[in-house]
Parts: sequence; structure tokens; C-alpha cells
Amino acid sequence: MTNNDNKDKTLAQILRSRGISRRGFLKFCAATASMMAMSPAMIPKIAHALENARRPSVIWLSFQECTGCTESLTRAHTATVESLIFDAISLDYHHTLQAASGHAAEEARETAMKENYGEYLLVVDGSIPMGNPGYSTIAGISNYDMLMETAKGAAAIIAVGTCATYGGIPQAKPNPTGAVSVRDLIKDKPIINVPGCPPIPVVITGVLTHFLTFGTIPELDHLGRPKVFYGQSIHDRCYRRPFYDKGLFAETFDDEGAKKGWCLYKLGCKGPTTYNACATTKWNDGTSWPIEAGHPCLGCSEPDFWDGGGFYKALSMPTENITQTVIYTAAGAVAAGLMLGARNLSKKEQAKAAHSNTTIDDLKK
Ligand code: SF4
Ligand code: SF4
Repeated sequence: MTNNDNKDKTLAQILRSRGISRRGFLKFCAATASMMAMSPAMIPKIAHALENARRPSVIWLSFQECTGCTESLTRAHTATVESLIFDAISLDYHHTLQAASGHAAEEARETAMKENYGEYLLVVDGSIPMGNPGYSTIAGISNYDMLMETAKGAAAIIAVGTCATYGGIPQAKPNPTGAVSVRDLIKDKPIINVPGCPPIPVVITGVLTHFLTFGTIPELDHLGRPKVFYGQSIHDRCYRRPFYDKGLFAETFDDEGAKKGWCLYKLGCKGPTTYNACATTKWNDGTSWPIEAGHPCLGCSEPDFWDGGGFYKALSMPTENITQTVIYTAAGAVAAGLMLGARNLSKKEQAKAAHSNTTIDDLKK
């Protein structure tokens, strides 16, 4: 996996040697600017920075996880973005993707750490079991020891996925392994949290691209998440929101409301308290996303989503009020969402609407 031939080349040199045209490269820069909500004026700056960037070494450690985060990354939906990001970084160690095994694999990690001390990016997926060092080991080294050793020389750490970010499913009650997050253990390094179960692939590559372009970490929210991707709730950007505002809710997964695409709030949708980019980037090459497929948001990018009170139980906030304020407390932090205009229809009005073929197009009129 280590590609020393390319180590000292700039990204522009690597791309040229791979036959990528300047036009194709600028197209990528434009897509990146748009993905990161930057103005078009930033496109030449991104191009200049990326062209002159040397490939940073990236060490990826996987601890207590299901490999879903890596699966997600390898499905980054724009082929150009995916290939560019892999060309642009030197992924020197990754348990799942590397060809080397055994001693050779561990040597690759040690060499990358030594040669790039203070400059490499450390990506971590999975939580760290603190109950017993033997619960999860790699090459005989406990996850805790490997994290602490590798974090020492890292310029920054990207915690990918809800397990690395908050402890995730391994930390779900009763947390048999004593699972903790990266941020629980590392206090002296910049950490970018990219939660999601799994995280959205273009969000992972977007964070890497930001680091490559600016050499800094993006602006983060109170949970350490990049604001550009986690700044708005699912509910803020949900295409079913007009139904919520009109008080039109599916009551079961196969009733008339569900068939007409009404709001999934009463089926347990956690969109109002979940901050992620699914509603805008979507999944699978922008094909669809869970709510578009008819399933409520489970809140997978928020702390304790697994223990949070039932996937199919409606949030406890009332829908009757004209103006509502939702206070969501997680991990000692408060995320507040102000939702205006929510109105619940009476049973009679709902029954009338259910027979009226009200669809999203009707509500747009
Ligand atoms: S409650 Fe869920 S389905 Fe309804 S508008 Fe909000 S995010 Fe969309
Ligand atoms: S819709 Fe909600 S549960 Fe589904 S992937 Fe997005 S944030 Fe996670």
C-alpha cells in the first residue's frame, strides 16, 4: 500500500502522470467547493493548494467496529473524488485495505510514524475497549496501547463513525467491553469527529480534502463535528418537512399516509434532533437516503443513539403547538432546534387528507 515512488511528488505531478486533465481536476475542485458550501471564488484557491500539496501520510486504525465505515469510504460516490482522494493521500496502514500482513504490516505503521512524525493524519474507526486489554488486540498490541502510541506523532486525528466518535454500538448498555471513544482518551490533539453508522462517504473524503487543501481542520460544532456537514438537522433539510408543517403524518408503515410519503415523525423519526448531511448528499451515488426509502431517521450521528429510547417510538416533543422548541441533551451538551409552523391536524382533518391524495407536489403548490 505504501507508495514511496509518489511520496515526494506534488498532487499535480501525480495526477498528470495518471493522465487526469486539468479540466477534470478543476471539475473536482468545483465539486469540492460546492460540497463544502464554499463560494465559487474558492475554486482556484482549492486548485492551487491541492496542486502543490504533498501527499500526507495517513494511518488508519480499526478497533471495535464492523468494517462498515471502511465499506462506506470505498463507496465514495463520485469516482473522481474517490480516486483523487486515494491519489492525494498516502494510506500507509489500513488493516482491511492493505496488502501486507503480519510483521510487514506492523513495520509499515512504524515506518510511516517515524518518517512522518508530527505530520501524519491518524484516522480511527471503532471504539476502544477499556474493560480488559485482551478484548481486542492487533499484532498482540491492545487497542488502547496502539491508539496512544500512534496518536503521539499525529498532526490531527479523524474519528470516523459513531463508535470512534462516541463509543457507538459497542458502548450500548450494558457496555460489556467498557468501550470508549477516541475523544475520551486523547486530550492533546485536534480531533475531528465524523459520526454516522456508517458515516456518509463524501463526508469522510470531504474532511480529508479540507485538510489537504488548507492544512487545517474545518470549523467544528460542540461535539467536534465539521459544521459544514453537521450544521443542520435532518429535519431542517428533509423533503418531507412540508408534511410535518401541515401535520400530515404516516401512522403505520403501510397506511395511506406512508404511501403518499407523509412525515415519519410518528413512526419514530429522529430527524428533528439529528445533525447530519443525509438529506442533502444522500447515499449510493445520490440515489436516495433512508427517509426517502420510507424509513425514519434513527439518529445514528448523535451520541447514545442505540440507547436513546426506541427506534420506532416518536420523540416526546408535542406536534400540536404552532411554534415549538426542542431541547436535546446529549453527553452534557445541548443542541437546540427551533421548529416553526408545526401543526397537528385533527383526526377528522387527517382522515380527510388521507382520502384526498395529498402528495408532496400538492403541498408545493
Ligand atoms: S420528522 Fe423526519 S420525516 Fe418528518 S420532516 Fe422531520 S426529518 Fe422528515
Ligand atoms: S437518515 Fe439518520 S439514521 Fe439514517 S444514516 Fe442519516 S443520520 Fe443516520
